[in-house]
Amino acid sequence: MMTSKINISFPDGSKKQFDRGISGGEIAKSISSGLAREALCLEVDDEVWDLSRLIEQDTSVKILKWQDVGGKEAYWHSSAHLMAEAIEALFPGTKFGIGPAIEQGFYYDIDINEHTLSPDDLAKIEEKMIELSKRDVPFIREEKSWEEAVAFYTKKKDSYKLELLDELKGKTITLYHHGNFTDLCSGPHIPSTSRIKAIKLLSVAGAYWRGSEKNKMLQRIYGITFPSQKELDEYIFRIEEAKRRDHRKLGKELELFVFHDIAPGAPFWLPKGMIIFRELEKFLREELDHNGYQEINTPILVKKDLWEQSGHWAHYRENMFLVESDETTYALKPMNCPESTYVYRNKIRSYKDLPLRYSEIGRLHRNEISGALGGMFRVRQITMDDAHIYCRPDQILSEVNSLIDLVARFYSIFGLKPIYNLSTRPDEAMGDIKLWEQAEESLKKALESKNITYNLKPKDGAFYGPKIDVLIEDAIGREWQIATIQLDFVMLPERFELEYIAEDGSRQRPVAIHRAIFGSFERFVGIITEHFAGSFPTWLSPVQAVILPITDAFNNYAQQVFHALKNAKVRVELDFRNEKVGFKIREWELKKVPYMLVVGEKEKSNHTVSIRQHKKGDIGAKPLNDFIQKIVKEISEKLLTS
Ligand SMILES: [Zn+2]
Ligand SMILES: [Zn+2]
Repeated sequence: MMTSKINISFPDGSKKQFDRGISGGEIAKSISSGLAREALCLEVDDEVWDLSRLIEQDTSVKILKWQDVGGKEAYWHSSAHLMAEAIEALFPGTKFGIGPAIEQGFYYDIDINEHTLSPDDLAKIEEKMIELSKRDVPFIREEKSWEEAVAFYTKKKDSYKLELLDELKGKTITLYHHGNFTDLCSGPHIPSTSRIKAIKLLSVAGAYWRGSEKNKMLQRIYGITFPSQKELDEYIFRIEEAKRRDHRKLGKELELFVFHDIAPGAPFWLPKGMIIFRELEKFLREELDHNGYQEINTPILVKKDLWEQSGHWAHYRENMFLVESDETTYALKPMNCPESTYVYRNKIRSYKDLPLRYSEIGRLHRNEISGALGGMFRVRQITMDDAHIYCRPDQILSEVNSLIDLVARFYSIFGLKPIYNLSTRPDEAMGDIKLWEQAEESLKKALESKNITYNLKPKDGAFYGPKIDVLIEDAIGREWQIATIQLDFVMLPERFELEYIAEDGSRQRPVAIHRAIFGSFERFVGIITEHFAGSFPTWLSPVQAVILPITDAFNNYAQQVFHALKNAKVRVELDFRNEKVGFKIREWELKKVPYMLVVGEKEKSNHTVSIRQHKKGDIGAKPLNDFIQKIVKEISEKLLTS
């Protein structure tokens, strides 16, 4: 017999009883009126529902807000509906294709017959959307029979929706209404149009119906919306900043790296870029030497047998570059992992030998489709700062603990803020369930003992173990996934039959931890080039100081300054060109050199330098030795600003 009460559990583990048939909106209100104002939709088990839908049985729920991915998705998809309503009002007879939310915003594919939309039209649509959103009307879900839905769109003469309906024959159809607009849609949607406060239509582009050239070309309007004008302004600032900071543009201007068609997806590192690359490598090696790592190096070209054993041949082959030679098939390694097991198996290992931490700066090749290549962010040749740690199950916690510290230290050097995601056991997981539970517990404990807040990603782990992914937030608020700490009970330990002799003499499997900090050097250099907008901290700057004599009468003193800095291992240049100092300053400013040292009569007789610091301008004169001390400290301590 059905009781009139149901039990609802919440993400924090708490449970509450409600009347059967309560809605998500009412649940939010019962918690607080603030939450009710912010709530956009409701996660019910693994589905996202409208807040108005009634809950009929015991279940777990999560109220989704703007901050949640599911909340944003419903928000932007609802904005696409609002845009369609505005378009229908301004251009009656328009036919609609599809209008999904995308990673940043939404689009709608529309057919306005002969009319090509202009920027003026977009402004008008935007204005109309604002007007319509203020009407504060709810999005209403309605279930219809297939026949009723077909009748509706036949009357409306919308051939695209009829085509979509063709594929849904026999199923219950849902329509969503708000104001004067109705859409064929499976939802979910936000409670009301008035939640959409700030609107920007970004562009319009041609798009074939259903992506096929055989079909008619429709017009795709891209837009984005936010709950406040402030957030929209920040978004627009970010887009413009991102353009200004584009690493492909800066890489060329600062002579760091270039790309040529002759080697798609692989950079040519120029001398200045190579200085940055080498500084990163040096930093990495120093840190790892301190942290008990041993560096190894394994072959790039390996027989396919290895990849058959590792499982890459079955699951990753289309991404691998193959080489035939002497009737043998080789592959360029797409990962370092399997080969590190050959180093592990080089000797019989005892429990006392563990953990073994093997780091490798390996050259990897992955066959990314050329359409997906984009500067340093998607390359085919990847230099990976990889490590594989082999340990006993009881060592997982301490290893993960020190990895988290290491990652945090690395990112703090660059002023990057880490964000942690913990991914747990997926349904198709392999390996001992007890080991999984113990490992997940260790990862949680490690994060919690450091007071790190993290996002839990249930069932998002690899089939061979749980993981912590670390994202970073850059200077303009963009997030990048970089580091990963990945436990592995199966892929390396089982497939390559790794063993150690336990204390009781039995043979046991070690746990492998895959970890990367920079991820790929190429991508990381791309990210920090944009993060610093090309103004690298002094320790990374290809040229750290430049000396500008006021006239050639001071060339001798300039030489002295030059040699003093050289002796202190500063990367310094001398600009003897027969140009005005003002001209030289402007030029070096564009090259984003941290320090310009101007020398003339006064500097020569006082043995000083007049300092111009990048972005700060003139910071006055200093005795030469004081300046050397200052810049050497800045470099050796890897300071962000001085
Ligand atoms: Zn919809
Ligand atoms: Zn690995």
